[in-house]
Amino acid sequence: MTDETHDPALVSWVSGAEPGSDFPVQNLPLGIFSETKGRRRPGVAIGDYILDLNGISDLLDEEWRRDLSQPVLNGWLARGPDAHRDLRARLSEILSDERYRDDVEPQLIGQSEVRMHVPCLVGDYSDFYVGIHHATNVGRLFRPDNPLLPNYKYVPIGYHGRASSIRASGEDVIRPSGQRLAPDAEAPEYGPSRRLDYELELGLWIGRGNKLGRPIPIDEADEHIAGWCLLNDWSARDLQAWEYQPLGPFLAKNFLTSVSPWIVTSEALAPFRVPMPPRPKGDPEPLDYLRRENDDAFAIQLEATLSTKGMREKGLPPHVLSRGTASAAMYWSAAQIVTHHASNGCNLQPGDLIGTGTLSTDSDSGLGSLLEISRGGKRPVELPSGETRSFLEDGDEVTLRAWCEAEGAVRIGFGECVGRVVPRR
Ligand code: MN
Repeated sequence: MTDETHDPALVSWVSGAEPGSDFPVQNLPLGIFSETKGRRRPGVAIGDYILDLNGISDLLDEEWRRDLSQPVLNGWLARGPDAHRDLRARLSEILSDERYRDDVEPQLIGQSEVRMHVPCLVGDYSDFYVGIHHATNVGRLFRPDNPLLPNYKYVPIGYHGRASSIRASGEDVIRPSGQRLAPDAEAPEYGPSRRLDYELELGLWIGRGNKLGRPIPIDEADEHIAGWCLLNDWSARDLQAWEYQPLGPFLAKNFLTSVSPWIVTSEALAPFRVPMPPRPKGDPEPLDYLRRENDDAFAIQLEATLSTKGMREKGLPPHVLSRGTASAAMYWSAAQIVTHHASNGCNLQPGDLIGTGTLSTDSDSGLGSLLEISRGGKRPVELPSGETRSFLEDGDEVTLRAWCEAEGAVRIGFGECVGRVVPRR
Protein backbone atom coordinates (compact mmCIF):
# COMPACT_ATOMS: atom_id res chain seq x y z
CA MET A 1 0.00 0.00 0.00
CA THR A 2 1.46 3.35 -1.02
CA ASP A 3 0.78 6.67 0.68
CA GLU A 4 1.99 10.28 0.60
CA THR A 5 5.55 9.19 1.60
CA HIS A 6 5.89 7.54 -1.83
CA ASP A 7 4.73 10.62 -3.77
CA PRO A 8 7.27 11.08 -6.60
CA ALA A 9 6.84 14.86 -6.29
CA LEU A 10 8.23 14.81 -2.74
CA VAL A 11 11.78 16.25 -2.55
CA SER A 12 14.14 16.46 0.41
CA TRP A 13 15.99 19.61 1.37
CA VAL A 14 19.08 17.45 1.95
CA SER A 15 21.51 17.69 -0.96
CA GLY A 16 22.41 14.46 -2.69
CA ALA A 17 18.96 13.00 -2.04
CA GLU A 18 17.72 13.89 -5.51
CA PRO A 19 16.07 11.25 -7.70
CA GLY A 20 18.72 8.87 -9.01
CA SER A 21 20.35 8.54 -5.58
CA ASP A 22 20.00 5.25 -3.70
CA PHE A 23 18.54 7.17 -0.79
CA PRO A 24 15.92 9.72 -1.85
CA VAL A 25 13.27 10.75 0.68
CA GLN A 26 11.03 7.95 -0.68
CA ASN A 27 13.46 5.32 0.69
CA LEU A 28 14.45 6.15 4.32
CA PRO A 29 16.24 2.90 5.26
CA LEU A 30 17.38 2.42 8.85
CA GLY A 31 20.83 1.34 9.97
CA ILE A 32 23.25 1.32 12.89
CA PHE A 33 26.33 3.53 12.64
CA SER A 34 29.18 4.81 14.76
CA GLU A 35 31.70 7.59 14.42
CA THR A 36 35.32 7.11 15.47
CA LYS A 37 35.18 6.13 19.15
CA GLY A 38 31.47 7.00 19.20
CA ARG A 39 28.77 4.64 20.33
CA ARG A 40 26.61 2.62 17.97
CA ARG A 41 23.23 4.19 17.31
CA PRO A 42 20.40 4.21 14.76
CA GLY A 43 20.30 6.49 11.76
CA VAL A 44 18.36 6.88 8.55
CA ALA A 45 20.03 7.26 5.15
CA ILE A 46 19.17 10.37 3.15
CA GLY A 47 21.23 11.21 0.06
CA ASP A 48 24.91 11.01 1.01
CA TYR A 49 24.11 11.55 4.69
CA ILE A 50 22.90 9.76 7.77
CA LEU A 51 20.40 11.46 10.01
CA ASP A 52 21.26 10.65 13.63
CA LEU A 53 17.94 9.62 15.16
CA ASN A 54 19.17 10.33 18.69
CA GLY A 55 19.88 13.89 17.68
CA ILE A 56 16.28 14.51 16.64
CA SER A 57 14.57 12.51 19.36
CA ASP A 58 12.45 15.47 20.54
CA LEU A 59 10.88 15.54 17.08
CA LEU A 60 9.86 11.89 17.38
CA ASP A 61 7.12 10.15 19.34
CA GLU A 62 8.23 9.72 22.96
CA GLU A 63 7.17 6.09 22.88
CA TRP A 64 9.76 5.33 20.18
CA ARG A 65 12.77 6.84 21.92
CA ARG A 66 13.96 3.84 23.84
CA ASP A 67 13.96 1.51 20.83
CA LEU A 68 15.51 4.16 18.59
CA SER A 69 18.47 4.81 20.89
CA GLN A 70 19.71 1.22 21.18
CA PRO A 71 22.89 -0.09 19.50
CA VAL A 72 20.74 -2.60 17.56
CA LEU A 73 17.32 -2.30 15.93
CA ASN A 74 15.72 -5.54 17.21
CA GLY A 75 13.40 -3.70 19.59
CA TRP A 76 12.30 -1.30 16.89
CA LEU A 77 11.69 -4.07 14.35
CA ALA A 78 9.57 -5.94 16.91
CA ARG A 79 7.09 -3.07 17.00
CA GLY A 80 5.51 -4.09 13.73
CA PRO A 81 4.14 -2.38 10.64
CA ASP A 82 1.96 0.33 12.25
CA ALA A 83 4.84 1.88 14.18
CA HIS A 84 7.13 1.48 11.16
CA ARG A 85 4.65 3.33 8.95
CA ASP A 86 4.28 6.11 11.53
CA LEU A 87 8.04 6.64 11.83
CA ARG A 88 8.38 6.66 8.06
CA ALA A 89 5.68 9.31 7.74
CA ARG A 90 7.33 11.44 10.41
CA LEU A 91 10.82 11.17 8.87
CA SER A 92 9.39 11.93 5.45
CA GLU A 93 7.85 15.13 6.82
CA ILE A 94 10.98 16.20 8.71
CA LEU A 95 13.28 15.64 5.75
CA SER A 96 11.08 17.29 3.12
CA ASP A 97 9.58 20.25 4.98
CA GLU A 98 11.98 23.24 4.99
CA ARG A 99 10.66 24.34 8.39
CA TYR A 100 12.64 21.55 10.07
CA ARG A 101 15.87 22.32 8.24
CA ASP A 102 17.56 24.57 10.85
CA ASP A 103 16.92 22.11 13.69
CA VAL A 104 17.70 18.93 11.80
CA GLU A 105 20.63 19.86 9.55
CA PRO A 106 23.21 19.74 12.42
CA GLN A 107 22.23 16.10 12.99
CA LEU A 108 23.30 15.01 9.50
CA ILE A 109 26.60 13.16 9.21
CA GLY A 110 28.32 12.25 5.95
CA GLN A 111 28.02 8.53 5.21
CA SER A 112 31.71 8.50 4.31
CA GLU A 113 32.58 9.61 7.85
CA VAL A 114 30.95 6.74 9.74
CA ARG A 115 31.22 3.03 10.11
CA MET A 116 28.12 0.93 9.48
CA HIS A 117 27.32 -2.19 11.49
CA VAL A 118 25.02 -5.20 11.25
CA PRO A 119 21.74 -3.48 12.17
CA CYS A 120 20.43 -6.19 14.51
CA LEU A 121 21.72 -8.65 17.03
CA VAL A 122 21.00 -11.66 14.82
CA GLY A 123 19.73 -14.51 16.95
CA ASP A 124 19.24 -16.86 14.05
CA TYR A 125 20.03 -16.91 10.36
CA SER A 126 18.58 -19.27 7.75
CA ASP A 127 19.21 -19.37 4.03
CA PHE A 128 16.75 -20.65 1.45
CA TYR A 129 17.20 -21.84 -2.13
CA VAL A 130 14.28 -20.16 -3.91
CA GLY A 131 16.19 -19.05 -7.01
CA ILE A 132 14.92 -21.68 -9.42
CA HIS A 133 17.41 -20.89 -12.18
CA HIS A 134 20.26 -21.12 -9.67
CA ALA A 135 18.93 -24.40 -8.32
CA THR A 136 18.59 -25.75 -11.86
CA ASN A 137 22.04 -24.54 -12.95
CA VAL A 138 23.77 -25.97 -9.90
CA GLY A 139 21.74 -29.18 -10.03
CA ARG A 140 22.73 -29.62 -13.68
CA LEU A 141 26.43 -29.57 -12.77
CA PHE A 142 25.88 -32.60 -10.55
CA ARG A 143 22.90 -34.29 -12.22
CA PRO A 144 22.71 -33.31 -15.92
CA ASP A 145 19.51 -35.27 -16.59
CA ASN A 146 17.71 -34.47 -13.37
CA PRO A 147 18.79 -31.03 -12.14
CA LEU A 148 15.87 -30.31 -9.78
CA LEU A 149 15.19 -32.81 -7.03
CA PRO A 150 11.54 -33.91 -6.74
CA ASN A 151 10.90 -31.98 -3.50
CA TYR A 152 11.88 -28.57 -4.96
CA LYS A 153 8.45 -27.57 -6.24
CA TYR A 154 6.69 -28.61 -3.02
CA VAL A 155 8.92 -27.47 -0.19
CA PRO A 156 10.97 -24.27 0.04
CA ILE A 157 14.44 -25.75 0.65
CA GLY A 158 16.66 -24.08 3.24
CA TYR A 159 19.43 -24.62 5.76
CA HIS A 160 20.24 -23.12 9.12
CA GLY A 161 23.24 -20.80 8.83
CA ARG A 162 25.38 -19.30 11.55
CA ALA A 163 24.65 -15.93 13.13
CA SER A 164 28.04 -15.27 14.76
CA SER A 165 29.86 -14.77 11.45
CA ILE A 166 27.42 -12.28 9.90
CA ARG A 167 29.19 -9.00 9.19
CA ALA A 168 28.31 -5.68 7.57
CA SER A 169 29.57 -4.74 4.13
CA GLY A 170 33.30 -3.97 4.04
CA GLU A 171 34.47 -6.86 6.19
CA ASP A 172 37.41 -8.75 4.63
CA VAL A 173 36.77 -12.31 3.49
CA ILE A 174 39.51 -14.38 5.10
CA ARG A 175 40.02 -17.34 2.79
CA PRO A 176 38.67 -20.36 4.65
CA SER A 177 40.59 -23.59 5.00
CA GLY A 178 38.97 -26.95 5.24
CA GLN A 179 38.77 -30.50 3.96
CA ARG A 180 38.71 -30.83 0.20
CA LEU A 181 39.00 -33.82 -2.06
CA ALA A 182 41.15 -33.23 -5.16
CA PRO A 183 39.58 -34.67 -8.36
CA ASP A 184 41.80 -37.75 -8.60
CA ALA A 185 42.68 -38.16 -4.94
CA GLU A 186 41.54 -41.03 -2.78
CA ALA A 187 41.56 -39.11 0.48
CA PRO A 188 40.86 -35.48 1.35
CA GLU A 189 43.40 -32.99 2.61
CA TYR A 190 43.10 -29.87 4.77
CA GLY A 191 44.08 -26.53 3.28
CA PRO A 192 42.91 -23.15 1.94
CA SER A 193 39.85 -23.32 -0.31
CA ARG A 194 40.69 -23.26 -4.03
CA ARG A 195 37.12 -22.69 -5.13
CA LEU A 196 35.98 -19.67 -3.15
CA ASP A 197 32.77 -18.14 -4.50
CA TYR A 198 30.17 -15.49 -3.75
CA GLU A 199 26.37 -15.85 -3.80
CA LEU A 200 24.19 -12.91 -4.83
CA GLU A 201 21.17 -12.94 -2.54
CA LEU A 202 18.57 -10.81 -0.84
CA GLY A 203 18.07 -11.05 2.90
CA LEU A 204 14.92 -10.24 4.83
CA TRP A 205 14.79 -8.97 8.40
CA ILE A 206 12.11 -10.43 10.65
CA GLY A 207 10.09 -7.80 12.50
CA ARG A 208 7.52 -9.20 14.90
CA GLY A 209 8.20 -12.80 15.83
CA ASN A 210 5.84 -15.72 16.45
CA LYS A 211 5.49 -17.80 19.58
CA LEU A 212 7.05 -21.25 19.72
CA GLY A 213 4.50 -23.76 18.47
CA ARG A 214 2.38 -21.12 16.69
CA PRO A 215 2.84 -21.10 12.91
CA ILE A 216 2.44 -17.89 10.86
CA PRO A 217 -0.57 -18.09 8.49
CA ILE A 218 0.41 -17.04 4.98
CA ASP A 219 -2.00 -14.10 5.02
CA GLU A 220 -0.13 -12.67 8.01
CA ALA A 221 3.40 -13.33 6.78
CA ASP A 222 3.98 -9.83 5.38
CA GLU A 223 3.42 -8.32 8.84
CA HIS A 224 6.48 -10.21 10.10
CA ILE A 225 8.84 -8.91 7.40
CA ALA A 226 10.32 -5.59 8.52
CA GLY A 227 12.70 -5.03 5.63
CA TRP A 228 15.34 -6.20 3.22
CA CYS A 229 19.08 -6.11 2.55
CA LEU A 230 21.67 -7.55 0.19
CA LEU A 231 23.31 -10.73 1.36
CA ASN A 232 26.48 -12.43 0.16
CA ASP A 233 26.60 -16.08 1.22
CA TRP A 234 30.34 -16.59 0.61
CA SER A 235 30.85 -20.25 -0.27
CA ALA A 236 33.87 -22.56 -0.50
CA ARG A 237 32.73 -24.91 -3.26
CA ASP A 238 35.47 -27.50 -2.71
CA LEU A 239 34.68 -27.77 1.00
CA GLN A 240 30.97 -27.83 0.17
CA ALA A 241 31.26 -30.64 -2.39
CA TRP A 242 33.02 -32.88 0.13
CA GLU A 243 30.94 -32.15 3.23
CA TYR A 244 27.39 -31.51 2.03
CA GLN A 245 26.06 -35.06 2.02
CA PRO A 246 23.97 -36.06 3.84
CA LEU A 247 23.22 -33.03 6.06
CA GLY A 248 23.83 -30.03 3.79
CA PRO A 249 26.21 -27.05 3.96
CA PHE A 250 28.24 -26.56 7.12
CA LEU A 251 31.81 -25.16 7.21
CA ALA A 252 31.70 -24.31 3.49
CA LYS A 253 29.48 -21.34 4.26
CA ASN A 254 29.64 -20.33 7.91
CA PHE A 255 33.06 -18.61 7.81
CA LEU A 256 31.41 -15.30 6.79
CA THR A 257 28.10 -13.90 5.58
CA SER A 258 28.10 -10.25 4.47
CA VAL A 259 25.03 -8.00 4.51
CA SER A 260 24.41 -4.49 3.28
CA PRO A 261 23.93 -2.34 6.40
CA TRP A 262 20.68 -0.57 5.51
CA ILE A 263 17.28 -2.09 6.28
CA VAL A 264 15.21 -1.12 3.25
CA THR A 265 11.80 -1.26 4.83
CA SER A 266 8.82 -3.19 3.52
CA GLU A 267 7.00 0.16 3.45
CA ALA A 268 9.63 1.67 1.12
CA LEU A 269 9.25 -1.29 -1.24
CA ALA A 270 5.46 -0.90 -1.57
CA PRO A 271 5.56 0.77 -5.04
CA PHE A 272 7.70 -2.06 -6.37
CA ARG A 273 5.41 -4.96 -5.56
CA VAL A 274 4.51 -7.01 -8.61
CA PRO A 275 2.35 -10.12 -8.89
CA MET A 276 4.19 -13.40 -8.32
CA PRO A 277 4.77 -14.82 -11.79
CA PRO A 278 2.46 -17.79 -12.43
CA ARG A 279 4.00 -21.22 -11.96
CA PRO A 280 5.09 -22.87 -15.18
CA LYS A 281 2.46 -25.12 -16.75
CA GLY A 282 2.51 -28.59 -15.24
CA ASP A 283 4.06 -27.54 -11.93
CA PRO A 284 2.14 -28.58 -8.80
CA GLU A 285 0.13 -25.95 -6.93
CA PRO A 286 1.60 -25.08 -3.51
CA LEU A 287 0.07 -26.99 -0.61
CA ASP A 288 -2.75 -25.06 1.08
CA TYR A 289 -0.69 -23.55 3.91
CA LEU A 290 1.62 -21.94 1.30
CA ARG A 291 -1.11 -20.74 -1.00
CA ARG A 292 -2.32 -17.15 -1.08
CA GLU A 293 -4.50 -15.24 -3.51
CA ASN A 294 -2.53 -12.42 -5.11
CA ASP A 295 0.81 -13.25 -3.56
CA ASP A 296 3.43 -10.77 -4.63
CA ALA A 297 7.08 -10.40 -5.47
CA PHE A 298 9.27 -7.31 -5.79
CA ALA A 299 10.77 -5.75 -8.90
CA ILE A 300 14.32 -5.59 -7.56
CA GLN A 301 17.30 -5.27 -9.89
CA LEU A 302 20.42 -7.05 -8.68
CA GLU A 303 24.01 -6.63 -9.78
CA ALA A 304 27.36 -8.19 -8.89
CA THR A 305 30.70 -6.72 -9.93
CA LEU A 306 34.27 -7.96 -9.55
CA SER A 307 37.44 -5.91 -9.15
CA THR A 308 40.76 -7.76 -9.01
CA LYS A 309 44.04 -6.39 -7.71
CA GLY A 310 45.31 -6.46 -11.31
CA MET A 311 42.33 -4.42 -12.50
CA ARG A 312 42.77 -1.84 -9.77
CA GLU A 313 46.47 -1.48 -10.55
CA LYS A 314 45.59 -0.76 -14.19
CA GLY A 315 42.90 1.71 -13.15
CA LEU A 316 40.17 -0.44 -14.71
CA PRO A 317 36.60 -0.14 -13.41
CA PRO A 318 34.90 -3.14 -11.79
CA HIS A 319 33.67 -5.79 -14.22
CA VAL A 320 29.94 -6.56 -14.20
CA LEU A 321 29.49 -10.27 -13.52
CA SER A 322 25.71 -10.25 -13.55
CA ARG A 323 22.70 -7.98 -13.65
CA GLY A 324 18.98 -8.72 -13.76
CA THR A 325 15.57 -8.71 -12.10
CA ALA A 326 15.59 -10.90 -9.05
CA SER A 327 11.84 -10.99 -8.59
CA ALA A 328 11.39 -13.17 -11.65
CA ALA A 329 13.87 -15.69 -10.25
CA MET A 330 12.11 -16.50 -6.97
CA TYR A 331 10.08 -19.68 -7.19
CA TRP A 332 8.80 -19.07 -3.65
CA SER A 333 7.66 -15.65 -2.40
CA ALA A 334 8.90 -13.93 0.75
CA ALA A 335 5.56 -14.70 2.41
CA GLN A 336 5.90 -18.39 1.53
CA ILE A 337 9.46 -18.50 2.91
CA VAL A 338 8.42 -16.99 6.23
CA THR A 339 5.28 -19.10 6.54
CA HIS A 340 7.15 -22.26 5.68
CA HIS A 341 9.92 -21.50 8.19
CA ALA A 342 7.35 -21.20 10.99
CA SER A 343 5.03 -23.91 9.68
CA ASN A 344 6.31 -26.53 12.13
CA GLY A 345 5.99 -24.16 15.06
CA CYS A 346 9.56 -22.84 14.81
CA ASN A 347 9.66 -19.40 16.43
CA LEU A 348 11.08 -16.55 14.39
CA GLN A 349 12.36 -13.64 16.44
CA PRO A 350 12.79 -9.91 15.80
CA GLY A 351 16.10 -9.35 14.01
CA ASP A 352 16.34 -12.86 12.59
CA LEU A 353 17.88 -12.85 9.13
CA ILE A 354 16.55 -15.00 6.30
CA GLY A 355 18.36 -15.28 2.96
CA THR A 356 16.53 -16.02 -0.25
CA GLY A 357 19.29 -18.17 -1.70
CA THR A 358 21.28 -17.25 -4.80
CA LEU A 359 19.21 -15.33 -7.32
CA SER A 360 20.08 -15.97 -10.95
CA THR A 361 17.94 -14.87 -13.88
CA ASP A 362 17.21 -17.24 -16.77
CA SER A 363 19.87 -15.48 -18.83
CA ASP A 364 23.65 -15.92 -18.96
CA SER A 365 24.02 -12.24 -18.06
CA GLY A 366 22.21 -12.71 -14.74
CA LEU A 367 23.98 -15.60 -13.00
CA GLY A 368 24.45 -15.04 -9.26
CA SER A 369 27.62 -17.06 -8.53
CA LEU A 370 30.95 -17.88 -10.19
CA LEU A 371 30.06 -21.57 -9.93
CA GLU A 372 27.33 -20.93 -12.50
CA ILE A 373 29.18 -18.29 -14.56
CA SER A 374 32.26 -20.51 -15.00
CA ARG A 375 30.18 -23.70 -15.39
CA GLY A 376 31.74 -25.33 -12.39
CA GLY A 377 35.18 -23.93 -13.27
CA LYS A 378 35.22 -25.17 -16.87
CA ARG A 379 34.65 -21.79 -18.54
CA PRO A 380 36.65 -19.09 -16.76
CA VAL A 381 35.46 -15.47 -16.98
CA GLU A 382 37.71 -13.21 -19.05
CA LEU A 383 38.36 -9.88 -17.40
CA PRO A 384 39.30 -6.56 -19.05
CA SER A 385 42.77 -6.81 -17.45
CA GLY A 386 43.49 -9.99 -19.42
CA GLU A 387 43.11 -12.07 -16.26
CA THR A 388 40.64 -14.95 -15.99
CA ARG A 389 38.64 -16.22 -13.04
CA SER A 390 36.87 -19.47 -12.31
CA PHE A 391 36.74 -18.71 -8.59
CA LEU A 392 37.90 -15.85 -6.36
CA GLU A 393 41.58 -15.14 -5.80
CA ASP A 394 43.19 -13.15 -3.01
CA GLY A 395 42.72 -9.42 -3.58
CA ASP A 396 39.45 -9.89 -5.49
CA GLU A 397 36.64 -7.62 -4.39
CA VAL A 398 32.98 -8.46 -5.02
CA THR A 399 30.33 -5.74 -4.78
CA LEU A 400 26.61 -6.49 -4.73
CA ARG A 401 24.07 -3.77 -5.49
CA ALA A 402 20.28 -3.64 -5.74
CA TRP A 403 17.77 -1.02 -6.75
CA CYS A 404 14.09 -0.74 -7.60
CA GLU A 405 12.46 1.13 -10.43
CA ALA A 406 8.82 1.36 -11.42
CA GLU A 407 6.67 3.69 -13.42
CA GLY A 408 5.24 6.48 -11.28
CA ALA A 409 7.74 5.86 -8.45
CA VAL A 410 11.10 7.34 -7.51
CA ARG A 411 13.98 4.86 -7.83
CA ILE A 412 15.34 3.59 -4.50
CA GLY A 413 18.54 1.66 -3.85
CA PHE A 414 19.90 -0.74 -1.24
CA GLY A 415 23.46 0.66 -1.14
CA GLU A 416 26.31 -1.83 -1.44
CA CYS A 417 27.50 -5.11 0.00
CA VAL A 418 31.27 -5.32 -0.51
CA GLY A 419 33.91 -7.86 0.49
CA ARG A 420 37.56 -8.32 -0.45
CA VAL A 421 39.26 -11.72 -0.29
CA VAL A 422 42.44 -11.83 1.79
CA PRO A 423 44.74 -14.78 2.49
CA ARG A 424 44.45 -16.53 5.81
CA ARG A 425 46.47 -14.57 8.39
MN1 MN B 1 23.16 -19.31 -0.28
